[in-house]
Amino acid sequence: TVEHSTERPHLVLFPFPAQGHINPLMEFAKRLVPYNLHVTFVVTQSIRERMLEAQKDAAPATSPLTDIRIETISDGLSPDNGEAKDVKMVIGLLREVGGRAFERLIEKLNSQNQRVSCIVYGSLLEWVPHIANKLSIPCAFFWTQSCAVYSIYYHYHNGLGHTAGDEAEKETPISELPLLCQSDLPSFLHPSDVNQFGKQLVLGQFTTISLATWILGNSYDELETSEIKSMVPFIPIRTVGPLLPSAFLDGSNPQDRDVGAHLCKTTNCMDWLNTKEDSTVVYVSFGSIVVLSKDQISEIALGLKASGQSFLWVIRPDHKKEETSGIQDLPEGFLEKTAGRGLVVPWCPQMAVLSHPSVGMFMTHCGWNSTLESLSSGVPVVSVPQWSDQTTNSKYIEDVWKTGIRLNKCREDRLIVREEVEKSIRTVMESEFGGELRKNAMQWKTLAKKAVVKGGSSDKNIEDFAKEVIARNS
Ligand code: UDP
Repeated sequence: TVEHSTERPHLVLFPFPAQGHINPLMEFAKRLVPYNLHVTFVVTQSIRERMLEAQKDAAPATSPLTDIRIETISDGLSPDNGEAKDVKMVIGLLREVGGRAFERLIEKLNSQNQRVSCIVYGSLLEWVPHIANKLSIPCAFFWTQSCAVYSIYYHYHNGLGHTAGDEAEKETPISELPLLCQSDLPSFLHPSDVNQFGKQLVLGQFTTISLATWILGNSYDELETSEIKSMVPFIPIRTVGPLLPSAFLDGSNPQDRDVGAHLCKTTNCMDWLNTKEDSTVVYVSFGSIVVLSKDQISEIALGLKASGQSFLWVIRPDHKKEETSGIQDLPEGFLEKTAGRGLVVPWCPQMAVLSHPSVGMFMTHCGWNSTLESLSSGVPVVSVPQWSDQTTNSKYIEDVWKTGIRLNKCREDRLIVREEVEKSIRTVMESEFGGELRKNAMQWKTLAKKAVVKGGSSDKNIEDFAKEVIARNS
């Protein structure tokens, strides 16, 4: 238990219940603790259960989480419907039942001499500011994606973006951003996207943003200078990232080597990576949500095999199916034929993997965390975006940051065939162009480090935020 003193300001951090939202906010929590603040991290019941299950039999966590208290609230999911995963239902229950539980939790903390000084809420939780407002607590909006995506959504929400157009490749001009084709926009804004719910959800975040005192983003000034500038006339964002375990970037805490909340059991692949030469392994992972079709898994497998390179591939079992799902979709005999050269695991400590000298490239769906992690470890990528902001991140990777090759527009686009997989891997791993991509990635890594070390742009923004919370509390 974390001892509580009433003089110290108390921050409550609450992420949307998904791996890609929990990781960066947990890293932010770690960065706040040194400012002598009490930090409480709120997760939903089903997330807590998955965290505990993932930690079972695992080696003791190396992350310094002892100063962060974890509180659990109901998400309204019963064990029966917890895996139903109808997104609309889950989000509705979170808002209704989770909202009431969150409010009760804050009231409880207030009444127990642990008065809450500030609520930091993650993306997709636009109802939290109403609760903060009702209880007269200032709040900070923690934007979980890139500043470019923040700017795009904001412009669309306010009718400033170029929304019309059925022409598939019409370009969107937003001042300070590169010209974006429809397929470069987040998928929820694609004219072909039938999922109006996604669009409402992402744009809905701006309906309560004016209630937030601070807008914080997991990015760094050096990476998104113009994108941050594009928001200065509107609702500016302060960058506090990349939020990653300290050991991999600034090194201020060498013990801090892993994210604090894996939701799947982690396989330690470091011993296997240690057997490989420098920059010889292709790391393949599609994050915590995407499920590839059987055909796509098969084409990637055959492309990897034909490339002749070693590979580490995360194939997550589909949560709704049995443990071996995903693996079963591999072509017959694939694992046997690539034994020694390839390793397939259900989950790994990704940042440690990307930072390992043997890893030469990353084939990724370009979730924002994976994108930042590739940039922060200087690893070039082959991007296979599926949906949401992954399309925009891929555009930036290929055309703005120049650290990778993009293979497709989005998941509805087409099947990526084995020859493309092989060719893109060979290009990144073997060609002069691949060397340039790696060099560029290394430069972004240097700048990422510069942003988070003492006195860097993100470090300073975190310090300012902490000081402002402290000043308001006194
Ligand atoms: N991740 C991990 N091990 C894995 C796969 C993913 O630790 O085997 C982490 C990864 O480092 C990242 C997060 O899970 O921090 C995935 O977030 P991202 O935004 O990249 O994608 P999402 O899962 O939201 O689609």
